[in-house]
Amino acid sequence: MVSHSVKCPECDAPIGLGPAQRHCECVECGSKFVIGFEALQEPQLTHFEALVAQGLNGVPVQAAEQRLAGLDAMIAQAEADVQAKHLQLEAAREANEVRRAEVQEVIAPFQNWTYLTGIAAMGACFLVWFVLEDVAWLLALGVGIVCLVLSWGFHSKWLGAESWAKEELHRSRGAIEELEAELSDAYLRLQDRVLERELRKRVLAAVR
Ligand SMILES: [Zn+2]
Repeated sequence: MVSHSVKCPECDAPIGLGPAQRHCECVECGSKFVIGFEALQEPQLTHFEALVAQGLNGVPVQAAEQRLAGLDAMIAQAEADVQAKHLQLEAAREANEVRRAEVQEVIAPFQNWTYLTGIAAMGACFLVWFVLEDVAWLLALGVGIVCLVLSWGFHSKWLGAESWAKEELHRSRGAIEELEAELSDAYLRLQDRVLERELRKRVLAAVR
Protein backbone atom coordinates (compact mmCIF):
# COMPACT_ATOMS: atom_id res chain seq x y z
CA MET A 1 0.00 0.00 0.00
CA VAL A 2 1.10 3.54 -0.65
CA SER A 3 2.14 4.78 2.80
CA HIS A 4 3.19 8.33 2.03
CA SER A 5 3.59 10.73 -0.80
CA VAL A 6 6.35 13.11 -1.94
CA LYS A 7 6.43 15.92 -4.47
CA CYS A 8 8.37 15.46 -7.68
CA PRO A 9 11.33 17.91 -7.53
CA GLU A 10 10.98 18.47 -11.28
CA CYS A 11 7.27 19.13 -11.76
CA ASP A 12 5.73 19.15 -8.25
CA ALA A 13 3.35 16.27 -9.06
CA PRO A 14 2.67 13.93 -6.09
CA ILE A 15 4.44 10.55 -6.12
CA GLY A 16 2.96 7.82 -3.88
CA LEU A 17 5.55 5.67 -2.09
CA GLY A 18 5.30 2.27 -0.45
CA PRO A 19 6.90 1.78 2.99
CA ALA A 20 10.02 -0.03 1.70
CA GLN A 21 10.35 1.73 -1.62
CA ARG A 22 13.79 3.10 -2.51
CA HIS A 23 13.28 4.07 -6.17
CA CYS A 24 10.40 5.91 -7.80
CA GLU A 25 9.21 7.39 -11.06
CA CYS A 26 7.05 10.48 -11.58
CA VAL A 27 4.07 9.59 -13.76
CA GLU A 28 3.69 13.23 -14.84
CA CYS A 29 7.16 14.03 -16.17
CA GLY A 30 8.83 10.60 -16.22
CA SER A 31 11.74 11.63 -13.95
CA LYS A 32 13.24 8.81 -11.90
CA PHE A 33 14.68 9.13 -8.43
CA VAL A 34 16.44 7.26 -5.67
CA ILE A 35 14.77 7.85 -2.30
CA GLY A 36 16.99 8.51 0.67
CA PHE A 37 15.80 8.60 4.27
CA GLU A 38 18.32 10.57 6.25
CA ALA A 39 17.77 11.97 9.72
CA LEU A 40 14.10 10.90 9.81
CA GLN A 41 13.02 13.90 7.83
CA GLU A 42 11.25 14.20 4.52
CA PRO A 43 12.54 11.63 2.01
CA GLN A 44 15.34 13.02 -0.16
CA LEU A 45 14.92 12.39 -3.89
CA THR A 46 18.05 12.16 -6.03
CA HIS A 47 17.69 12.20 -9.79
CA PHE A 48 18.89 9.05 -11.63
CA GLU A 49 20.95 11.30 -13.95
CA ALA A 50 22.93 12.68 -11.00
CA LEU A 51 23.73 9.15 -9.81
CA VAL A 52 24.69 7.98 -13.30
CA ALA A 53 27.06 10.97 -13.49
CA GLN A 54 28.62 9.92 -10.15
CA GLY A 55 29.47 6.52 -11.61
CA LEU A 56 30.20 3.57 -9.37
CA ASN A 57 31.39 5.83 -6.57
CA GLY A 58 34.08 3.43 -5.38
CA VAL A 59 32.00 0.23 -5.74
CA PRO A 60 33.99 -2.43 -7.66
CA VAL A 61 32.61 -3.24 -11.10
CA GLN A 62 32.31 -6.91 -10.16
CA ALA A 63 30.15 -6.12 -7.12
CA ALA A 64 27.92 -3.90 -9.26
CA GLU A 65 27.53 -6.67 -11.80
CA GLN A 66 26.68 -9.17 -9.08
CA ARG A 67 24.01 -6.87 -7.70
CA LEU A 68 22.58 -6.53 -11.21
CA ALA A 69 22.41 -10.32 -11.63
CA GLY A 70 20.78 -10.59 -8.20
CA LEU A 71 18.21 -8.01 -9.27
CA ASP A 72 17.25 -10.08 -12.30
CA ALA A 73 16.37 -12.97 -9.97
CA MET A 74 14.50 -10.65 -7.57
CA ILE A 75 12.50 -9.17 -10.45
CA ALA A 76 11.50 -12.61 -11.69
CA GLN A 77 10.35 -13.44 -8.15
CA ALA A 78 8.50 -10.13 -7.80
CA GLU A 79 6.74 -10.71 -11.14
CA ALA A 80 5.68 -14.18 -10.00
CA ASP A 81 4.38 -12.64 -6.73
CA VAL A 82 2.33 -10.06 -8.60
CA GLN A 83 0.91 -12.74 -10.86
CA ALA A 84 0.06 -15.03 -7.93
CA LYS A 85 -1.60 -12.22 -5.93
CA HIS A 86 -3.55 -11.22 -9.00
CA LEU A 87 -4.92 -14.74 -9.40
CA GLN A 88 -5.78 -14.97 -5.69
CA LEU A 89 -7.65 -11.68 -5.91
CA GLU A 90 -9.62 -12.85 -8.95
CA ALA A 91 -10.54 -16.05 -7.11
CA ALA A 92 -11.62 -14.11 -4.01
CA ARG A 93 -13.79 -11.79 -6.13
CA GLU A 94 -15.44 -14.76 -7.82
CA ALA A 95 -16.01 -16.46 -4.46
CA ASN A 96 -17.61 -13.24 -3.21
CA GLU A 97 -20.04 -13.21 -6.13
CA VAL A 98 -20.95 -16.85 -5.46
CA ARG A 99 -21.42 -16.08 -1.74
CA ARG A 100 -23.64 -13.12 -2.60
CA ALA A 101 -25.89 -15.34 -4.72
CA GLU A 102 -25.99 -18.05 -2.00
CA VAL A 103 -26.90 -15.53 0.66
CA GLN A 104 -29.70 -14.14 -1.52
CA GLU A 105 -31.01 -17.68 -1.98
CA VAL A 106 -31.25 -18.09 1.79
CA ILE A 107 -33.07 -14.77 2.26
CA ALA A 108 -35.47 -14.97 -0.71
CA PRO A 109 -37.87 -17.66 0.66
CA PHE A 110 -38.36 -15.76 3.93
CA GLN A 111 -39.06 -12.59 1.96
CA ASN A 112 -41.57 -14.33 -0.30
CA TRP A 113 -43.40 -16.02 2.59
CA THR A 114 -43.55 -12.75 4.52
CA TYR A 115 -45.25 -11.05 1.56
CA LEU A 116 -47.56 -13.99 0.81
CA THR A 117 -48.81 -14.44 4.38
CA GLY A 118 -49.05 -10.67 4.79
CA ILE A 119 -51.26 -10.34 1.71
CA ALA A 120 -53.39 -13.32 2.85
CA ALA A 121 -53.84 -11.68 6.26
CA MET A 122 -54.96 -8.43 4.62
CA GLY A 123 -57.37 -10.34 2.36
CA ALA A 124 -58.89 -12.11 5.38
CA CYS A 125 -59.24 -8.81 7.25
CA PHE A 126 -61.04 -7.28 4.29
CA LEU A 127 -63.50 -10.20 4.23
CA VAL A 128 -64.00 -9.95 7.99
CA TRP A 129 -64.73 -6.21 7.90
CA PHE A 130 -66.84 -5.91 4.78
CA VAL A 131 -68.12 -9.18 3.39
CA LEU A 132 -68.64 -12.18 5.61
CA GLU A 133 -71.03 -13.00 8.43
CA ASP A 134 -71.61 -15.77 11.02
CA VAL A 135 -69.46 -18.93 10.75
CA ALA A 136 -67.60 -17.80 7.61
CA TRP A 137 -66.79 -14.54 9.42
CA LEU A 138 -65.32 -16.48 12.35
CA LEU A 139 -63.35 -18.73 9.99
CA ALA A 140 -61.92 -15.76 8.06
CA LEU A 141 -60.99 -14.09 11.37
CA GLY A 142 -59.10 -17.26 12.41
CA VAL A 143 -57.31 -17.49 9.05
CA GLY A 144 -56.46 -13.78 9.21
CA ILE A 145 -54.92 -14.10 12.67
CA VAL A 146 -52.93 -17.21 11.72
CA CYS A 147 -51.61 -15.50 8.57
CA LEU A 148 -50.66 -12.39 10.57
CA VAL A 149 -48.73 -14.48 13.10
CA LEU A 150 -47.02 -16.42 10.29
CA SER A 151 -46.12 -13.21 8.47
CA TRP A 152 -44.59 -11.80 11.63
CA GLY A 153 -42.63 -15.05 12.12
CA PHE A 154 -41.30 -15.06 8.55
CA HIS A 155 -40.41 -11.41 8.85
CA SER A 156 -38.24 -11.98 11.91
CA LYS A 157 -36.55 -14.93 10.13
CA TRP A 158 -35.95 -12.60 7.18
CA LEU A 159 -34.32 -10.00 9.43
CA GLY A 160 -32.16 -12.68 11.08
CA ALA A 161 -31.02 -14.03 7.70
CA GLU A 162 -30.24 -10.51 6.56
CA SER A 163 -27.97 -9.72 9.48
CA TRP A 164 -26.20 -13.08 9.03
CA ALA A 165 -25.79 -12.25 5.32
CA LYS A 166 -24.34 -8.85 6.17
CA GLU A 167 -21.67 -10.48 8.34
CA GLU A 168 -20.87 -13.09 5.69
CA LEU A 169 -20.44 -10.51 2.96
CA HIS A 170 -18.46 -8.22 5.25
CA ARG A 171 -15.99 -11.05 5.88
CA SER A 172 -15.76 -11.82 2.18
CA ARG A 173 -15.14 -8.15 1.32
CA GLY A 174 -12.47 -7.96 4.04
CA ALA A 175 -10.59 -10.84 2.40
CA ILE A 176 -10.74 -9.01 -0.95
CA GLU A 177 -9.44 -5.76 0.55
CA GLU A 178 -6.55 -7.62 2.19
CA LEU A 179 -5.59 -9.21 -1.13
CA GLU A 180 -5.87 -5.87 -2.92
CA ALA A 181 -3.40 -4.40 -0.43
CA GLU A 182 -1.04 -7.36 -0.88
CA LEU A 183 -1.23 -7.04 -4.67
CA SER A 184 -0.47 -3.33 -4.41
CA ASP A 185 2.57 -4.10 -2.19
CA ALA A 186 3.81 -6.77 -4.58
CA TYR A 187 3.44 -4.36 -7.48
CA LEU A 188 5.33 -1.58 -5.66
CA ARG A 189 8.15 -4.03 -4.84
CA LEU A 190 8.37 -5.06 -8.49
CA GLN A 191 8.41 -1.44 -9.64
CA ASP A 192 11.13 -0.63 -7.11
CA ARG A 193 13.39 -3.45 -8.32
CA VAL A 194 12.80 -2.67 -12.01
CA LEU A 195 13.81 0.95 -11.43
CA GLU A 196 16.87 -0.10 -9.45
CA ARG A 197 17.93 -2.43 -12.25
CA GLU A 198 17.56 0.36 -14.78
CA LEU A 199 19.70 2.68 -12.66
CA ARG A 200 22.44 0.09 -12.11
CA LYS A 201 22.52 -0.79 -15.79
CA ARG A 202 22.92 2.86 -16.71
CA VAL A 203 25.67 3.38 -14.15
CA LEU A 204 27.55 0.33 -15.41
CA ALA A 205 27.11 1.38 -19.05
CA ALA A 206 28.45 4.85 -18.18
CA VAL A 207 31.68 3.58 -16.55
CA ARG A 208 32.49 0.97 -19.18
ZN1 LIG B 1 7.56 14.98 -12.22
